[in-house]
Amino acid sequence: MLDPRDGRPGDFEAAARTLGAHDHSIRRLFSAVIGKGIHDPIVWGREFQVPRRLTAMIRAPLPRLVLERSVVSPVDGFEKLVFHTQDELAVETVLIPLHKPGAVSVCLSCQVGCPVACSFCATGRMSQWRNLETWEILDQFIHAREVVRSQQRRVTGAVFMGMGEPLLASVKPQVLAAASLLSYPYGGQIASKAITISTVGIVPQIDEYTAEGHKFRLAISLGAATDAKRAWLVPVAARWSIAEVMAAARRHALARRCRVMLSYVCISGVNVSEDDARALGELIGETPVRLDLIDVTDPTGRFRPPASEELRAFRDALTRYVGQPVVRRYSGGADILAACGTLAGSE
Ligand code: SF4
Repeated sequence: MLDPRDGRPGDFEAAARTLGAHDHSIRRLFSAVIGKGIHDPIVWGREFQVPRRLTAMIRAPLPRLVLERSVVSPVDGFEKLVFHTQDELAVETVLIPLHKPGAVSVCLSCQVGCPVACSFCATGRMSQWRNLETWEILDQFIHAREVVRSQQRRVTGAVFMGMGEPLLASVKPQVLAAASLLSYPYGGQIASKAITISTVGIVPQIDEYTAEGHKFRLAISLGAATDAKRAWLVPVAARWSIAEVMAAARRHALARRCRVMLSYVCISGVNVSEDDARALGELIGETPVRLDLIDVTDPTGRFRPPASEELRAFRDALTRYVGQPVVRRYSGGADILAACGTLAGSE
């Protein structure tokens, strides 16, 4: 049996065609299931004229994530959706209000827990982990869009910055299939350049991603500017040196003719000194980048964000040593454990 939410659109189309379905019927099915979030085969036939012959090829009923609850931050309006999977695992998704009124970006999870186990991240401390299926990633989006529409707002972007590392070899195919379905004209209809995939620096997969020529944006999270600190903060990804990560970022910038988005989690007393800024400057060199600074949010209190004076000194130093755009990115929803690094922190 087929599922239009699993695999890339072209894979599904080819499989359905082999079984005798016509292109226009296949597209109507995509429009119903992904474009409108309708999971009832009777409605596919009645309102989208999906022929019964195609409906009979689809696995039924289509499985869904269960939306357990949503919680909105009274501080900044970030909203967290808490789901459980069919095997009763927790998955969290965040609705990020954008500057444009009524526009929302959805932060999606690709794994339950995360084997990369960054020392500052609650997801990495979860007791178990597994990869999500493509449909489980996409279903977060479908549920999120329903919530957003009920608030008379609309989803205009998606970021893969939730639970999990999207470029691990075992989950990258599901992530890219879900991103393709999100951008598909008969699917999620989100512009490719409004979809961002974030990685802690899995070098072979960055190179493969670059070679595959995807139109989605790539963000690389450095963690630290030296190998010693990176080995402590991002232990699993530290099997590739920071120089190797930066070389892969450079190859991506050259291939795409773009600035690479680098994110840097700022931790007081750990990675925001003048020496760290100098090391970042040497590392980045002439590679065109945009450096996003994000305050660490660690509910355990082990890691603290820099105080305003410490951060100001770090930014001044970055102006001298990096000399490229540096942006402070707001990681909202800290009060409801929806900020970067806090998802499933209440487990
Ligand atoms: S920061 Fe990202 S890569 Fe690191 S443990 Fe958390 S989810 Fe995984």
